[in-house]
Amino acid sequence: MAEKNNNALEKIVSLCKRRGFVFPSSEIYGGFAAVYDFGPYGVELENAVKREWWRNMVQLRENVVGLDSAIFMSPKIWEASGHVAGFSDPLIECRKCHARLRADHLLEDIDIAADEKMSEEKINTLLEENKDKIECSKCGAKDFTKAKKFNLLVKSNLGNFTQDWSKDPVYLRGETCQGIYVNYKNVLDSMRVQIPFGIAQIGKAFRNEITARQFIFRTREFEQMEMQYFTRPEKEMEEYEKLREYRWSFYKSLGIREENLRWHKHENLVFYAKEAYDIEYNFPFGWKELEGIHARGNYDLGQHSKYSGKDLSYVDPKTQEKYIPHIIESSVGVGRIVLMLLAEAYTEEEVGGETRTVLKFDKRLAPIKAAIFPLLRNKPELVKKAKEIYDVLKYKYMCEFDDNGNIGKRYRRQDEIGTPYCITVDFDSLEDGTVTVRDRDTMQQERIKIEKLEEYLTKNLNA
Ligand code: ATP
Repeated sequence: MAEKNNNALEKIVSLCKRRGFVFPSSEIYGGFAAVYDFGPYGVELENAVKREWWRNMVQLRENVVGLDSAIFMSPKIWEASGHVAGFSDPLIECRKCHARLRADHLLEDIDIAADEKMSEEKINTLLEENKDKIECSKCGAKDFTKAKKFNLLVKSNLGNFTQDWSKDPVYLRGETCQGIYVNYKNVLDSMRVQIPFGIAQIGKAFRNEITARQFIFRTREFEQMEMQYFTRPEKEMEEYEKLREYRWSFYKSLGIREENLRWHKHENLVFYAKEAYDIEYNFPFGWKELEGIHARGNYDLGQHSKYSGKDLSYVDPKTQEKYIPHIIESSVGVGRIVLMLLAEAYTEEEVGGETRTVLKFDKRLAPIKAAIFPLLRNKPELVKKAKEIYDVLKYKYMCEFDDNGNIGKRYRRQDEIGTPYCITVDFDSLEDGTVTVRDRDTMQQERIKIEKLEEYLTKNLNA
């Protein structure tokens, strides 16, 4: 089974490279570990994911507003948040092959509940107790150094023009939500929001991840989509349950099969947290965290009040009651959703004795919505007509014009990138003004009037 699943991931990785979804970073220089670049179709897919998330989180919710805070922030923020002191993973090294690994992951591999929040001492005790069972995931040896906590914040020399800039580093943000917390008062003072309300943000985050495995699942540079919702203290858990339901239904609306989703409740909570759940997805390499939904109490604004000296409490406009808002959050990586969508959509089918590879994305998410072909590339009148159609439809949808190779090859290429509709102009089109529209999933073809194409796409793409 494991072999089969690895195979599934390999197929996705290979398709992503071959068809322009995801490229390894700096490839011509031998690569750059744990960083990936999104190619022409990858960026379309990412944009579609972000668009749907923003629509669901901001556009459809009257009390949630957006934000785009900077990547660089005052280093004090990361002290207040606890990241400088405690944002770390337990690192161990294999004495044989010198691979650096996460000790909590090695324990999880032998079904021992562990996580990065455990103390160094506790992790080392568990490692010692299970030393006969724990193997290096690279070489299989059972000889490791002791686990040591390794801080994940990425440092920069921004604004520091001395030689030794390691002393007072400015960090690249390790999560986007700190930018939300420190702008909470700006939003409150400038917008007509009252508690409860939320602030949503999409942006890059950076972590010096020890192990970067599993393709775009865990990378050192990634994009987060986070929404922080500010509530009255006694409403926190009620709002939390609503947010959990809302997030689950979001994934259902993207066409994710419910049997591939499950809840994971955190057992080891950080001291301030009320409750924490992850939504896990059944990735080709097993059940893993897709998104975190956490009830965080008033820790975040409390810390920033303390460290900044600014009062971040809220005054209820009706009752004049004063309190520090409690926060519930939803936090997910764009790359993890993209990998989930690829895994969910990847299909191989037998058609006429051949294997057809199709990405059966929800049609709203497909990178290219329609491909327009002239049946033959050496017939100028067909090329001209197909270009005319492309030039109209491109204003509404991401379309592609393709006259390369035979029509079967063109269909196969579009199937592989998940294009819902292929539109072919043939000689009849010049006579009767109709074209053939082929559906990606059913492969059924129908004749549609050229002037009805836009209406047809709008109806069927659910856009
Ligand atoms: P993990 O346990 O997988 O390291 P985490 O619990 O540290 O993740 P959070 O800090 O809660 O993750 O981050 C929220 C979300 O951001 C995660 O659910 C995930 O979708 C995304 N995310 C976190 N780290 C990475 C990463 N290195 N690469 C890609 N996405 C990430």
